[in-house]
Amino acid sequence: MRLSRIKLAGFKSFVDPTTLDLPSNLVGIVGPNGCGKSNTIDAVRWVMGESSAKHLRGDSMEDVIFSGSSSRKPVGQASIELVFDNSSGKLGGAYAQYAEIAVKRRVSRDGQSQYFLNGARCRRRDITDIFLGTGLGPRSYAIIEQGMISRLIEARPEDLRIYLEEAAGISKYRERRRETENRIRHARENLERLEDVREEVA
Ligand code: ATP
Repeated sequence: MRLSRIKLAGFKSFVDPTTLDLPSNLVGIVGPNGCGKSNTIDAVRWVMGESSAKHLRGDSMEDVIFSGSSSRKPVGQASIELVFDNSSGKLGGAYAQYAEIAVKRRVSRDGQSQYFLNGARCRRRDITDIFLGTGLGPRSYAIIEQGMISRLIEARPEDLRIYLEEAAGISKYRERRRETENRIRHARENLERLEDVREEVA
């Protein structure tokens, strides 16, 4: 599965609808300081479900929406769409039938964030599920930013393990286990409450 297109609108410095085609496996984005290179990377992270404004170099999620310039007024919403080439069928299951997978996120100034998969509204979880264990994802090793190589070299063994687990596809199951453990904990708490009520009425 390869990222083949990024469509940006109202996102950070990309106020006008802009399409970036990524025609091969190796694509370099070059340009003068402040032209929007890092904003492109932020866009990719953001669509894949990044929920921390700090990781997108902002103070709040609203900071991803174009905030105006000397010649343009601010806009009310930002949207990004990533188009993945899935002609190899790497993304299996229900998605194997699609040669292209389009993942979109839209946010408005009132804080409403919406996600879409091939045009259909979906949950954030549906998007993050797709990428878990593929090496993609908002904080995965597929996005190598400045300073990351040295961070990897200097990483503590437990941090390195997280990268290895993602590469081996284990992180998906770790996440499922965490969710299941949470559900079991809630069920136990409910049972305890039920037991209290039963004792009261007995
Ligand atoms: P460098 O080479 O210095 O790292 P860069 O090409 O990576 O630069 P970016 O950090 O992607 O540059 O873009 C910075 C520009 O984006 C700045 O001019 C900043 O004002 C603009 N910008 C960031 N957020 C917004 C926003 N919400 N609205 C309008 N402009 C924004």
